[in-house]
This record gives sequence, C-alpha cells and structure tokens, in this order.
Amino acid sequence: MSNLKSKEIRLKSRPDGMPSKANFDLVEVPVPAPKAGEFIVRNAYMSVDPYMRGRMVDRESYVPPFQIGEALTGGAVGQVIESQNPSYKVGDYVQHMLGWREIALIGSDPMSAMATMKVDPSIAPIQSYLGALGMPGLTAYAGLLRIGALKEGETVFVSAASGAVGAIVCQIAKNKGCFVVGSAGSDDKCQWLKDKARVDATINYKKFATEEALTAELKRLAPKGIDVYFENVGGIHLTAALSNMRAKGRVVMCGMIEQYNNTAPAPGPWNIIMTIPLGLRIEGFVVSNHFDLMGDFLRDMGQWIKAGKMTWHETIVDGIETAPEAFLGLFKGANFGKMLVRVGPDKAV
Ligand code: NDP
Repeated sequence: MSNLKSKEIRLKSRPDGMPSKANFDLVEVPVPAPKAGEFIVRNAYMSVDPYMRGRMVDRESYVPPFQIGEALTGGAVGQVIESQNPSYKVGDYVQHMLGWREIALIGSDPMSAMATMKVDPSIAPIQSYLGALGMPGLTAYAGLLRIGALKEGETVFVSAASGAVGAIVCQIAKNKGCFVVGSAGSDDKCQWLKDKARVDATINYKKFATEEALTAELKRLAPKGIDVYFENVGGIHLTAALSNMRAKGRVVMCGMIEQYNNTAPAPGPWNIIMTIPLGLRIEGFVVSNHFDLMGDFLRDMGQWIKAGKMTWHETIVDGIETAPEAFLGLFKGANFGKMLVRVGPDKAV
C-alpha cells in the first residue's frame, strides 16, 4: 500500500427513471503502491457527463456498463504524485478515465495507456481539458464539421446550446460565418449565448413548451429555414427542427438527453417524413470514433482562443461527495456550461 487513502463514488444500484443520490455510495479505500509501469494521480477535477446515465443500465453499448459495487469511471485531470512509469514524472498533469475518485492508480495495461495523456497547464486551466479542450469540445468539432458538413454562411440550430458541447458548436458555427440560433433553459443562459458566444438568436425553450410554439418561434427566428440542426435534446426540439429544415439539410444526432431517464419508449417525430421531399440527412455519431480529428481540433481551438473567438462557461462544485448531485443536475439544467467536480487541489506536489 502507498499509505494514501482515497474517497470514491460507487454505483450502489441501477436507477430506474431519474437517478437519485440513493443509487450511489461514497467509500474510502486504501490506494495500492504503484508497480512497474504504474503511477498515481491526485485528481483535481472530475467530469460528470450525460452519457454516464447510459452506462448505469445493464446493456451492451459502445462502452461497457458500470458494475454495481464498483467505483464509477469517467474523465478526470490531476497531477502525478508517485510514479513507476518513466513516461510520467511526479508533477506532470494528466488527463485520464479514472474519475469519480480523489486518487487514481493508473495501470500499465494498454487500455489505461490509451486513455491517459499529459496536458499542458500553460495553454489553458487544467479543467478545460475535460470540457472545451477535451471530449465535449471534440464532440462539437467532429459533429458540426464532419457529420454536419457545415458550410460558410449556413443557418445552424443548436439545442442545449449553453452546455459543454452546445456552446462550442455555436461558436464554431459563428467562426465559420454562420447564422446561429441556440436553445437553452433559462434567460441567463440565453443572454450569455448572445453576449459572449455571439449567437444571433436564442430561444428559452421553457417559454415555448409545446411543439407548435417551439416550431413557430424557430420559424420566426430563422425564416429561411435551418441547414444544420445539432441535436442534443430530442423530443419537441427534434420535431420543431424537422419542421424548419431546408432542402439538403443535415441533422447531427449527438445526444437526446430528454430521453435518458425514460421508463417507456418515447414516440418518434411524426414529421420524419420531411426527410424525403427535402433530401435531409440524419446521422448519429460517437466522439470516440473521431479521435483522428484531435490534432485539427486543438490547432483550430488554439487559434480561435488566441483570436478571442472562443469562450466557455463552467459550473464547478466542490468535493467528491457532491459528484452524484452534480451528475443529477445535468438533467435539470443545473449546470451552466461544463459541469465539473473539484476533488482536490490544482497543485498537488
Ligand atoms: P450539457 O453541458 O449540455 O448539460 C446537459 C444540459 O442539457 C443541461 O444543462 C440542460 O440545459 C439540458 N437538458 C437537460 N435535460 C433536458 C431536457 N429534458 N430538455 C431539454 N434540455 C435538457 O451536456 P453535454 O454538453 O456534455 O452533452 C450535451 C449532449 O451531447 C447530451 O445529449 C450528451 O449525451 C451528448 N453527447 C454526445 C456525445 C457523442 O459522442 N455523441 C459526446 C458528448 C455528449 P438547459 O438548461 O438548456 O435545459
């Protein structure tokens, strides 16, 4: 043992519908000493993400389900405090997949090696590598540019627009000279989208709570129609978007958070038939199949940040024990931008 103790969050039971704090356990465990090829990271921040809800269900998917009684996993960033791996020195900042715990022992197996990389704290605050400069940012980039095949000057509609993915989508579209309409769940989020993310028009979707109202508002804001809809939500957002698409439009299926806690199948959009006369393309994607874009993504993000053309918001809560609540908050819009949990100091050595 290393003399270190770490608190971690385990899955206690599988949620049925909306998860609750009772589905999680907080446990303190000893941290084993690192063997050859291994190293220990003092996590500073861990990420909670909507996709984790899917991993709480016992079913085959593109990532294996979480197991009951085991610590959850997910993105985290922190500093190496002990190392038996010559590639990672004490003091290095790394991003890895052993979140939901204060201290992580990173294994020497190929999977751990693939999921771990050094990050440069001089480029951006370390937690950015879990948001704008990390998985959510790459999701926005790959989804909009590769799947959405965005062209200069097009009209883009983005749901969950002020979130970790959505806010980056909006700004990439603006940087490509597009007209952007963003939908979010509060006036504050909408104001930020206009003031900081340069979004042209916003919808507080809670004020347009029926399909008819949302469809009409979208039509008012983008009278010539939508070329690319970046789907993060589902439900009436998808139906309203389909009713406003232009010919040859693309619907980028990134997420459908509205459905993640459903206990019964959600109805499909009745107007999916619009794909036929308009020649629409609806395409889903998983970010992990687009890691080849990482170099281009970081290059472009670096340039946009330098030019003052990329900003983001974060919601940071403190303490590993707050992680379940932070996760639950994603389904209530409690986060403004990337939701993060601070589980340790930025500087551990
Ligand atoms: P966000 O930071 O956007 O947080 C989730 C947001 O969704 C909330 O803040 C809330 O914002 C909104 N929301 C929650 N419930 C509802 C609801 N019932 N109706 C409408 N809006 C709701 O999360 P991410 O940016 O991390 O993820 C956004 C989407 O992208 C998710 O669907 C996620 O699953 C998906 N995703 C997909 C990936 C892929 O590889 N395909 C990778 C990463 C994310 P508000 O206040 O505006 O309601």
